[in-house]
Amino acid sequence: MFKVGMIGLGAMGVGMAKNLAKADFLTVIYNRTIEKSQSLAQELNVSSALSIEELATQVNVICLCVSRDEDVLEVIKAISRTVLPNTIVVDMSTVSSHTARQAAAILACKDVDFLDAPVSGGVEGAKNGTLAMMVGGDGVVLEKVRPVLETMANRIVHIGETGSGQATKAVNQIMAAGINQAVTEALAFAKTQSLPMEKIIDVISGGAAGNWFLQHRGVSMTQGLYPAGFKLALHHKDLKICEQMGEKAGINLPLTTQTRLDYEKLIAEGFSDCDISALYHLKVK
Ligand code: NAP
Repeated sequence: MFKVGMIGLGAMGVGMAKNLAKADFLTVIYNRTIEKSQSLAQELNVSSALSIEELATQVNVICLCVSRDEDVLEVIKAISRTVLPNTIVVDMSTVSSHTARQAAAILACKDVDFLDAPVSGGVEGAKNGTLAMMVGGDGVVLEKVRPVLETMANRIVHIGETGSGQATKAVNQIMAAGINQAVTEALAFAKTQSLPMEKIIDVISGGAAGNWFLQHRGVSMTQGLYPAGFKLALHHKDLKICEQMGEKAGINLPLTTQTRLDYEKLIAEGFSDCDISALYHLKVK
């Protein structure tokens, strides 16, 4: 029987926790800002732990979705202090492959399995349980825990060894940078042509240039609204990871670098916590 603990109740984690609860897998939740976990625990009728160490003693599966590499490692170290042997830890944050391997090594000393399982599909995917999940680690462990992950994702693909899930997510983030550039540039151009924005987004969404980002962020961005969504500061963090991996592999990533630099301008203007579609702001300036 699965007893699942969820750590990190941000834009993504809340939807994930709700879907785990719907399937009756969720036992306990933890969030660094404790008020968030306490009110959600009441709503979902599950426990709220006061610490990660407390959560780890109560479950046999731990899912986490926190911000950055250093946050994942901090959480993993806290888990390792009290975790029960044979627990499975699934990290759905977006971090580097190196961090995934470090996390797996820390937990292996405690007889605990680790999967790097970053996701794509946005807050909408997290809410609706329709994320795409790319998994690194032992395939046998993935099959064991698959029923839990299927409450959050409708496409779960085992890529290979530990870290390969995060490397796949880096591919996704490079692509997302290019799509953001293409969509925001095209819509900024559309504005100069005095076109009816909602109509053109509707018709283009149905053709060969249609894509998730245009469909889900097109209208709001052209209204100057960028509610997160996927925080620009988080994609900026991901693109730095991609550039580091690219440099190591000897490949240039010009679109990635351009997008990272554009984000730095927006961060300086106070757009860190806005959705990545705030790139439109730079194009129509
Ligand atoms: P978010 O809304 O900023 O939430 C971040 C969560 O992590 C919060 O619950 C935060 O706690 C917690 N946290 C951060 N540092 C922590 C630490 N040191 N110890 C414990 N908890 C910590 O971010 P998000 O959008 O949910 O994204 C989470 C991860 O998923 C990121 O790696 C992101 O790149 C990835 N991701 C996001 C999207 C998206 O569309 N948003 C899509 C796919 C993947 P507090 O509440 O206390 O701040």
